[in-house]
Amino acid sequence: MNTISYVYGNNLYLNITNRCMMSCPYCIKRKWGNKFEGNDLKLDVEPSYKEVIDVIKDPKKYDEVIFCGYGDCLINIETVKKISRWIKDNSGRVRVNTAGLANRYYGRDILPELKGLIDIISISLNGSDPKEYNDINKPMFEEESFGEVVKFAKRAKNYIPKVIITAIEFPGFDILKVERIAKEIGVQFRIRPYLGDEDN
Ligand code: SF4
Repeated sequence: MNTISYVYGNNLYLNITNRCMMSCPYCIKRKWGNKFEGNDLKLDVEPSYKEVIDVIKDPKKYDEVIFCGYGDCLINIETVKKISRWIKDNSGRVRVNTAGLANRYYGRDILPELKGLIDIISISLNGSDPKEYNDINKPMFEEESFGEVVKFAKRAKNYIPKVIITAIEFPGFDILKVERIAKEIGVQFRIRPYLGDEDN
């Protein structure tokens, strides 16, 4: 049975799409066959707004309700906006995890549409220049992507109270360069562990 939500720590994670703007060779959805902590995150059909709010029930119960899953939720932005509005109306806290390519994907600035709906946005930046970023993540927009993600993170500060850039501790990857970029653009930085085949 496909999982559209799961609890991890004090947070509720939402899995609303498997579509993504990247084809990261390290993606755990491939390594782990779409499984996470015993949940099958492969979606045959993306859930509707109603199906998602029915599983959330009471967003106040969680520290955060997080759009995450195996895919980039902002590829399904209208559903994200509707669910987030409902969570905020019911006193919950919303976090979006994204690759940060939504503005390039839609060809417009989507960040003003998220104002008041999202409390935290976590943007992954695995790479410190266009070539390295393209080599590591295989994004849809190739070497253009790195600059797009950095621009997205900078602009996000105008609309979302907390913006975090994250980077994975790959063996041999100079994560400090990404930390410097986060500092330069004035957002927080967080290191994420590298997950191998044995970690699920
Ligand atoms: S951005 Fe995330 S979901 Fe998308 S391919 Fe990369 S690791 Fe997988």
